[in-house]
Amino acid sequence: MKKYTEMTKDELMQEKTALEAEYEKIKNLGLSLDMSRGKPGADQLDLSLPMLDVLKSDSDMKSESGLDVRNYACLDGIPEAKALIAGMVGAKPEQAIVYGNSSLNIMYDQVARAFIFGLCGNTPWCKLDKVKFLCPVPGYDRHFAITEEFGVEMINIPMTEDGPDMDMVEKYVNNDASVKGIWCVPKYSNPQGVVYSDETVERFAKLKPAADDFRIFWDNAYTVHHLYDDKQAEIPNILELCEKEGNPDMVFEFCSTSKVTFPGAGVAGICTSEKNREDIKKRLTIQTIGHDKINQLRHARFFKDVDGIKAHMAKHAALIRPKFELVENILTDEIASRGIGTWVKPLGGYFFGFEALSGCAKEIVAKCKEAGVTMTGAGSPFPYKKDPDDSVIRIAPTYPSLDELKKAAEVFVIVTRLVSVNKLLEA
Ligand code: PMP
Repeated sequence: MKKYTEMTKDELMQEKTALEAEYEKIKNLGLSLDMSRGKPGADQLDLSLPMLDVLKSDSDMKSESGLDVRNYACLDGIPEAKALIAGMVGAKPEQAIVYGNSSLNIMYDQVARAFIFGLCGNTPWCKLDKVKFLCPVPGYDRHFAITEEFGVEMINIPMTEDGPDMDMVEKYVNNDASVKGIWCVPKYSNPQGVVYSDETVERFAKLKPAADDFRIFWDNAYTVHHLYDDKQAEIPNILELCEKEGNPDMVFEFCSTSKVTFPGAGVAGICTSEKNREDIKKRLTIQTIGHDKINQLRHARFFKDVDGIKAHMAKHAALIRPKFELVENILTDEIASRGIGTWVKPLGGYFFGFEALSGCAKEIVAKCKEAGVTMTGAGSPFPYKKDPDDSVIRIAPTYPSLDELKKAAEVFVIVTRLVSVNKLLEA
């Protein structure tokens, strides 16, 4: 297939005329398809329904510690839930604090507490002239929304195939005391599916932050979300490495079962050092008497251990792998072959981070919408929703059925071709 970038103006004009006609046809189909949010499909949610039968009215409602989970008590989670959450990220059970249903909620709390009270006795960030966060881009829009809400200055850090550009990270963190944090999704990143290399993780652990209260917000949301049995990414244990490097308190590691069991009804937790845990519990004890321990017990009994989670995730993978492969194949045949888009092949997680020709993303998303296909807003994977290159589009293939996904991907292809042709003709 001839690349668009190698076509003459006449060839591009011909292509434009044909694509415009196709686009008009598609617009008249009255489609209503959604590739915008990373939600599991209903068939995936069905996988966890048996968990609801684990606790019945005649079940033993005691945790392995002997605690009656129906009652108050136990601020930081029942032991079997700590083991489960810690096990998901390779941490020790005692490093975990188990919360309620959302890891994003914990991240928000950590930022809010840092602003209001300060972390581990440090000056509250609200009293500082400037607070900066490093934001590997493209990244997760909801991370950036939290720091934006608190008025944090967000600094773009380019992603490479090995993770964030560590030269830049080191330069900022080690020299600027107003840099207080960095958002990271180290395995199967949202949206690109990038897995941080061993060297990247090691360089994180070796940081020498100018600020005592600098923290890595290590959001290991996709820690067990592999697409292929034989290509399961593993990353080094950041908590262990940081301890070894004399930085025991530098990491907050988050995870949840949102995309393991039920989004919005799973169990979430944070794993971190003893000093950080004490700091957190001091605040948490004012904030709540405890989280939903019945749900914690339900999860722990359903999975038994991390191997139970892994077996369950293999069932998710079997359902979503065909969807990823469908998108991958269509993009490869129709887009990559024409030289008008690139992406990292995801081996896990929930997304493709598609990179169109520079200056095309907004127009592609708008034209898809006009044709009845909703994509994540262009710019969303960047702080302040500003993609400096206007090229990144997040594709979320899990929620639609295979049939819907095929239709949506075909619309995306026609639109991307049309917008790219127009862009090249402008040049
Ligand atoms: N982190 C990342 C990277 C995500 O993609 C998501 C969305 N699934 C979340 C956190 C939200 O997780 P939770 O449901 O535990 O709040």
